[in-house]
Amino acid sequence: MSKVRVVCAHDCPDMCSLIAEVEDGRVVRIQGDPDDAFTAGFACAKVNRDMETVHSPDRLRTPLRRTGPKASGQFEPIGWDAALDEITTRWKAIIAESGPEAILGYAYSAHQGHMNRRLVSGLFHALGTSRLQAGTVCDTCCETAWDMTCGPVGGTDPEAVVHSDLVIAWGCDLMAVNIHFWALRRAAGGDRPAAQPDRGAGGLAPADPDRHGCGAGLWHRACAAARWVAGS
Ligand code: SF4
Repeated sequence: MSKVRVVCAHDCPDMCSLIAEVEDGRVVRIQGDPDDAFTAGFACAKVNRDMETVHSPDRLRTPLRRTGPKASGQFEPIGWDAALDEITTRWKAIIAESGPEAILGYAYSAHQGHMNRRLVSGLFHALGTSRLQAGTVCDTCCETAWDMTCGPVGGTDPEAVVHSDLVIAWGCDLMAVNIHFWALRRAAGGDRPAAQPDRGAGGLAPADPDRHGCGAGLWHRACAAARWVAGS
């Protein structure tokens, strides 16, 4: 068995450093890299099981060409050369008829690596296509809202959370989508209810409308309150 150091393939700000254990060409175990300060030796629940995705028989292995109406779910597998030929033929026809701005370059960050994120942006730039500010409809809206509310600041260093007096998790399910930030905050002793500032340096106040069973805001509120009642 060999151990391979890899980077998580999800578009997630934690950008975990992972160790994959490989046996006979198959990934058999994935764990967080203990030597990476932010990953701190653990991956989130979905990535702990990434080998099931990597080796799933349902995984796409070739490009698919749609053979029926949109949303009908009718596709046929085709080779890479055929797929690329079809794409370039159609793009060239669109550009010849209406100009390159008739194509919308739509792509975001994949696993936040430059190969995925920047290379395709260069292609769209070279073609002269229309572009969204941040690459996708959803993130362009977020970015505009952020700029209008907070101004042109990129955010804060997540590791600086240990110095915060109070963290407000606004509509953010930290346990589900930002587990390492939450763990860091917790390790720094900042997971008490915000209403108890006398119990140490700061607290965490979730503002989370999610009310289903695994809503971390609700779960966290309940756990933090229970721990405070227990005096721990
Ligand atoms: S928290 Fe999970 S999804 Fe995010 S980078 Fe780490 S392992 Fe990947």
